[in-house]
Amino acid sequence: MRLKYKLGRPELMTSRELLIELVRTRDRTTLGCVDDCPPGTAWIDFVAPTDVVRLDGGKFFHEYDQIDVYREGAPPDPQESPLAAAAASQRPIEEVVWLAHELGHLQSKLRGSVFPPSGAERTYAEELRAWYFAKRLLVEKEFADWDIFDTLRTQGLVSYREYLNLTEQQLLLATEIATDVTGV
Ligand SMILES: [Zn+2]
Repeated sequence: MRLKYKLGRPELMTSRELLIELVRTRDRTTLGCVDDCPPGTAWIDFVAPTDVVRLDGGKFFHEYDQIDVYREGAPPDPQESPLAAAAASQRPIEEVVWLAHELGHLQSKLRGSVFPPSGAERTYAEELRAWYFAKRLLVEKEFADWDIFDTLRTQGLVSYREYLNLTEQQLLLATEIATDVTGV
């Protein structure tokens, strides 16, 4: 939670408010743009999980700058606006972390990463980059639930490592590749 000031008194900004803020500022449907969408924006939706192999808590479709955030349980009515869906989130901390992660893939693409990444090392490097940009975005927004962020990041990266069956050598190479784009 972050502090927000209203009438001179500090208030807590919840993860739900942050999720709503990200949708308000990054979702193209909410912005009402079509051909003139600002960089760093995407078509954001909250949907039932669709991937057979679940690695991320969402999906970035690099061809159309679309982001699906997976919602467990009852997904919102497709007619419902992304803003209303964000407001109705039952797991706002997890969803804001995954939305930031998928926006991290978008940021990586804007920084010149090639999609889809080819090979195991590049696939893993892309995950590291997406987490790097997610963290940067959430720091900027004064997100505070870092224990949950770290847990989801670790779970996500472990899933990829196992799925890709990476060796220590490949992990090192992936870290080097990731550093090329993030500049860290
Ligand atoms: Zn990812």
